[in-house]
Amino acid sequence: MPTDYYETLGVTRDAEPDQIKKAFRRLARELHPDVNDHDPEAESKFKEAAEAYEVLSDPERRGTYDRFGHEGLRSGGWAPGAGGPGGIQDIFDAFFGGDPFRQQTGPSSGADIGVRVEVELEELVAGTTREVSFEAVNPCEACDGEGAAAGSGFTQCEACGGAGEVRRVSDGIFGRVLSSGPCDRCGGVGRVPDRPCEACGGAGRIAGRRSWEVDVPAGIEDGQRIRINGAGHAGQPGAPPGDLYVEVRVEPDDRFARRDTEIYTRAETGVTTAMLGGEVEIEALEGRETLEVPAGSQQGDEILLKGHGLPALGGGRRGDLHAIVEIRVPKKLSRKQREAALRLAEELE
Ligand SMILES: [Zn+2]
Ligand SMILES: [Zn+2]
Repeated sequence: MPTDYYETLGVTRDAEPDQIKKAFRRLARELHPDVNDHDPEAESKFKEAAEAYEVLSDPERRGTYDRFGHEGLRSGGWAPGAGGPGGIQDIFDAFFGGDPFRQQTGPSSGADIGVRVEVELEELVAGTTREVSFEAVNPCEACDGEGAAAGSGFTQCEACGGAGEVRRVSDGIFGRVLSSGPCDRCGGVGRVPDRPCEACGGAGRIAGRRSWEVDVPAGIEDGQRIRINGAGHAGQPGAPPGDLYVEVRVEPDDRFARRDTEIYTRAETGVTTAMLGGEVEIEALEGRETLEVPAGSQQGDEILLKGHGLPALGGGRRGDLHAIVEIRVPKKLSRKQREAALRLAEELE
């Protein structure tokens, strides 16, 4: 049975928002792990208080809770600590600059890198590759990314006692705030080399350039991103690298329009060919193709070339090519052509 939120915060049911905030702040300070190493239940009490505050600080949630209790909140889709705006994470951030129970010790992993490649629509029939080159922090080769000179060992960092993390006290809008962050001395690694590697100064990483051959899969859409695990910036010694994200731009091509796997192109057809039927040349993804236009074709008619579109991302059969008939009327006629057209007009009308 969950405890009553008003009881948890020690306020009355008609408490003003300001009183609720004050009550939570007081409790949170008492229960904060940085001042409460001695109370093993501090963490669960703190989280209970945060949950109560998450509900009672939000007028809508508070109203639901007042009328329907815990059940009402859950059937309305709310769950404690579910996150989102005004969720527990925001509360931790506002009061403490981060979740005090989240473990953030140890070396930090490398950051992600984003690059962009441009491809032609035609290349998406079979897929293609692109060599990308970008600025990246690479593991130092001289020390294998460890940061120590050859033959040197490591000593535990004195500044953080090997934890990689230091706690700081600062005065913020909610009063005195205890926060923690990576240790400056060892960069969060917790140990320092006895003799730092000369090439990287002990960091284990060096900024430079890197190249990568990216496989661009068949059928990819403009703007989609490919994630390459571990191809981002190198992490601190002992931590994993970030990822590389490759955004694919498909260059616009005014010969074609695309909808998923379907490709649309023009079939420019002369007046007589439209009337009598005949062959026209069209632009297709794999070069020009000859197309049979049936007699009596109308402006906007669609002629389908099955399997001449794009494959779906991840494989499967290719879509179709839709050739749209565009009847070209000659702008100028020779005397002979005009006479022929007049005779035809007499016959037709
Ligand atoms: Zn090095
Ligand atoms: Zn340290």
